[in-house]
Amino acid sequence: MFELLKTDSHTKARLGRLTTAHGVVETPVFMPVGTQASVKALDPRELREMGTQIILGNTYHLNLRPGLDILRAAGGLHKFMNWEKPILTDSGGFQVFSLAKIRKIKPHGVEFRSHLDGSLLFLGPKEAMEIQRVLGSDIAMVFDECPAHDAPAREQRLAVERTIRWAGECREQPRADGQKVFGIVQGGSNAALREECAKALVAMDFDGYAIGGVSVGEPEPEMLKAIEITEPHLPANKARYAMGLGTPAQMIELIARGVDMFDCVLPTRIARTGTAVTHTGAFALKGAAYKTDFGPIEEGCECFACRHFTRAYLRHLVRANEILGLRMVSVHNSHLFLKIMTEVRAAIAGGTFAEFYREFIAHYTPSQKVLAQRRQKTGR
Ligand SMILES: [Zn+2]
Repeated sequence: MFELLKTDSHTKARLGRLTTAHGVVETPVFMPVGTQASVKALDPRELREMGTQIILGNTYHLNLRPGLDILRAAGGLHKFMNWEKPILTDSGGFQVFSLAKIRKIKPHGVEFRSHLDGSLLFLGPKEAMEIQRVLGSDIAMVFDECPAHDAPAREQRLAVERTIRWAGECREQPRADGQKVFGIVQGGSNAALREECAKALVAMDFDGYAIGGVSVGEPEPEMLKAIEITEPHLPANKARYAMGLGTPAQMIELIARGVDMFDCVLPTRIARTGTAVTHTGAFALKGAAYKTDFGPIEEGCECFACRHFTRAYLRHLVRANEILGLRMVSVHNSHLFLKIMTEVRAAIAGGTFAEFYREFIAHYTPSQKVLAQRRQKTGR
């Protein structure tokens, strides 16, 4: 399923190709997130035009609404949302442990109350794989336990034990035609647990491996550490996916550490508050500085928003809460994330990734939050 085309000689960056039932995906790849069978504010035509290769769908949310009967009647998620390219679905594990109320962990899954209407539901390996089978995703994820990043050591250990056991159960479930399944490595920031989890999953021979338990509120240095202690235990001939990450600079850092796949709600989420991302960092379009700025969001950007509208106009739309404003910032931000991946792939192919990486990080200003996390870590 995964073909490793090239490994960078100065970093761990990899150029690869994933072959799925709905087409080929060139890696490193960014996957826009379509939580509710829609990448927020963007239609399939726009997603195609900006070069989207694969999107992410969400088992937990789609199972609650519209529900499995409707998705089954529609003929699966591709048909329901009219998206003909590859889809990866997460298993719902992350949402059960982060969104749902009143959880009770049982041997074969988790009992929880819906965050929508409080109804009592159950999701385990069997249920998660059945939902993903009906959705008909190209890549399904195993049902895992994702504890909080600051969970006590005992809880982290139990989560790893359950994640391994549940991964084994997921592997035995029926799948949709051509559906591939990825394992998810848990273990927090504990190197021994990460190793144990990775080795157990690799022994089960999944089609790819995700690093989970990241993007769960941990500071950036801890996230990078989790990736660094997990990656050496993953086989070179399978795709590696860092779940829920990250900013453009974080994705570049992770690519340099050997990660191939990313998904993040960031581009569309911050667009809804009028924050635009560029190659040099994010900025709030609402700022007075852009009142009469008649340049595009980012000079040289080929997205629809930058080709047609100015910062001053978009600032006005955002301030007036016009839907077009948030749509256009979503177009630009998503296009940017995809464009950066195109640049990364070209740099790896051309043997210039180390230089690209150095330059990118040097010019990118991280958010205040990330800077504070780094200061805390280094004591500066
Ligand atoms: Zn743009």
